[in-house]
Amino acid sequence: MLPNIKKIGVLTSGGDSPGMNAAIRSVVRTCAYHNVECIGIYRGYQGMIEGDFKEMGPRSVNNIVNKGGTILKSARSKEFMTVEGRKKAYENLKNAGVEALVVIGGDGSFTGAEVFNKEYGFPVMGIPGTIDNDIFGTSHTLGYDTALNTVVEVIDKIRDTAISHNRLFFVEVMGRDAGHIALNSGIGAGAEEILIPEEDLGLDRLLESLKRSKESGKSSSIVVVAEGDKIGKTVFELKDYVEENMPEYDVRVSVLGHMQRGGSPSCFDRVLASRLGVKAVESILEGKSNFMVGLLNDKVALTPLEQAIKGHTEIDKELLRVSDIMST
Ligand code: ATP
Repeated sequence: MLPNIKKIGVLTSGGDSPGMNAAIRSVVRTCAYHNVECIGIYRGYQGMIEGDFKEMGPRSVNNIVNKGGTILKSARSKEFMTVEGRKKAYENLKNAGVEALVVIGGDGSFTGAEVFNKEYGFPVMGIPGTIDNDIFGTSHTLGYDTALNTVVEVIDKIRDTAISHNRLFFVEVMGRDAGHIALNSGIGAGAEEILIPEEDLGLDRLLESLKRSKESGKSSSIVVVAEGDKIGKTVFELKDYVEENMPEYDVRVSVLGHMQRGGSPSCFDRVLASRLGVKAVESILEGKSNFMVGLLNDKVALTPLEQAIKGHTEIDKELLRVSDIMST
């Protein structure tokens, strides 16, 4: 027997990412399509605790498919990590008649959803929204493709300066524990070297590689560094180290920072968000709970939340080899 769910809540939590709005729109409109009411919950779990809810009809999400950020706002909520906080959140949902929840966020947000489900048996469904692409069970998280395009566009601009002044640029991109952005944007932007947390290149090999590229006739270089790279130095210390050992280079650093999280989502992210939103709502209506909807082999697929949280994403080692060959 299918559950007769008549009201679904949707929230965005953790760091924002481009495509979250397109996912909200998809959830709201899929609910409307199936004659289910949709409640937007502002500021993630904190808004759930404070009862910051708003009914959302299909017209409430007009003109947001192309917007970065999240119209529902996002937040990190310490209170939701407490039993009392989650109790308040549950009472608010119950009073509002909300019977299931779609959580758009990263693994922390999914952990919150799982804990909440365990405590109250409340149906939850996750949509992966983070630019880092570090969630198991999906080849792409929402915002990752947009972030890659943003980073490549900026590095193209940095390259103009690097070439004009014979400079070496260290460009730091986001990715605390995962080098997906660095690796893919680095290849896309033609970086000489790419430093990622998953692979410790080592300072000696970095220097060797830069020297080799100098000897081969290159007068400028771009090195893309993931923020979580484990080479043992900050990007500024790296600059000092290379300057000491290669005085012929004028070394500069560019830390791209939060601009990578903003901007209009790419077509890929908009389509992905639309597909994941449809699947999330329809899965709830089919009686499923505790899953994340993601993209596997180009198909929308469900992964148990627990696996999505605990599973480890791997970088594609072949991309490292491609990068090496490209910097010949
Ligand atoms: P990002 O990838 O941007 O960090 P995230 O979803 O992983 O996104 P977090 O800050 O880790 O972001 O988690 C978002 C929120 O989820 C937290 O502020 C908290 O409210 C909730 N949350 C995380 N872990 C737990 C937990 N163990 N129990 C209850 N709630 C949690």
